Amino acid sequence: MRRLQRFADWTTAQDPSVCAEYAVECRADGCGAAFDVKEDCSAVQSWQHEHMKKTGHREFWEHASHPTIVTAPPGSIVASRVAEYSRTAAETGPKQVRA
Ligand SMILES: [Zn+2]
Repeated sequence: MRRLQRFADWTTAQDPSVCAEYAVECRADGCGAAFDVKEDCSAVQSWQHEHMKKTGHREFWEHASHPTIVTAPPGSIVASRVAEYSRTAAETGPKQVRA
């Protein structure tokens, strides 16, 4: 017997309405210096360069967070639930949804 499996057409994309966030932490023992910024990842690089010039520290942790939006396949049950949530949130404000 032949089985046909179809995979739903889900998409995940970056949310253009929210800024990405970048952060960096110095890894030198006992330093604890850190910096974070929204949108401008070049500011993180500049901060690291300045910190290294001042301290000689050159090892860091970099973190980047990008807001995303997941889209369910059109016509799916999940798409209907998302539409209902969006309609309710627009009327009464966002609510916590239990999965
Ligand atoms: Zn440091």
